[in-house]
Amino acid sequence: MIFSVLTLFPKQVSDFLSTSIIGRAINNEFLDIRCIDIRDYADNSHGKVDDTLYGGGKGMLIACEPVYRAWKSAVDATTDKPYTVHLSPKGTVLNQKKVIEFSNCEHLILLCGHYEGVDQRVIDSIADEEISIGDYVLTGGEAPACVLIDAVSRMLPGVLPDTSVYEDESHMNGALEAPHFTKPEEWGGMKVPEVLRNGHHAEITKWRRMEGLFVTYQNRRDLFDGLDLTPEEWAYIIRRESEISAKSIN
Ligand code: SAM
Repeated sequence: MIFSVLTLFPKQVSDFLSTSIIGRAINNEFLDIRCIDIRDYADNSHGKVDDTLYGGGKGMLIACEPVYRAWKSAVDATTDKPYTVHLSPKGTVLNQKKVIEFSNCEHLILLCGHYEGVDQRVIDSIADEEISIGDYVLTGGEAPACVLIDAVSRMLPGVLPDTSVYEDESHMNGALEAPHFTKPEEWGGMKVPEVLRNGHHAEITKWRRMEGLFVTYQNRRDLFDGLDLTPEEWAYIIRRESEISAKSIN
């Protein structure tokens, strides 16, 4: 899959993506990351791409023409039809469903704003969609672009060893994942749950599903309310909740 990142700070993006699993996927050519410096498309000899706001106000805005030219260069570099995303705190908040949708694209162009952002006219001309990575404001779209690339890349063939690595992870089926443990069996007076040590696969699978539901109930009531639980699953949640409140009373 191709990701073309339109940015004023290409090194921020390429440095972040060069390590670990994503770095390996790039080296193995499962991912093609193209960082395009908007400054290279400035319409003046000084590489100036931003200007003051009409109507007044603090800060600088990235102008239309360099962004449009940078975007056009990304579009012209491939024969497939790219899909363009503007990273913005005003966008739809990214979630796993959206990530899976994006993983079906052949070429994503990601526009990163900086300073006050980008002139609205070029956003309206080139962006198919605006995506936020959460309800807070960052200094630039580079970290959000890296977040999106990382999350989408994990869904692509060849990036992770196989689909079983992510199939049961948090957010894949609407719920969160159960807690995990590694050696030693006992640490700080706390023992790994007996069920995970008995080697009984059906029981382990069931425990993980139930505990995942319980974690969702405890941490993300908004997600939990969207789940359709069986009577057995409800009974588990009620039992676990009373265990926890009994512990906190003692
Ligand atoms: N003036 C803008 C506003 O209030 O909506 C914020 C601009 S922000 C300082 C600069 C750039 O960072 C934005 O153009 C956008 O590309 C990026 N950015 C900041 N927060 C973001 C978020 N939560 N999700 C995605 N991109 C974000």
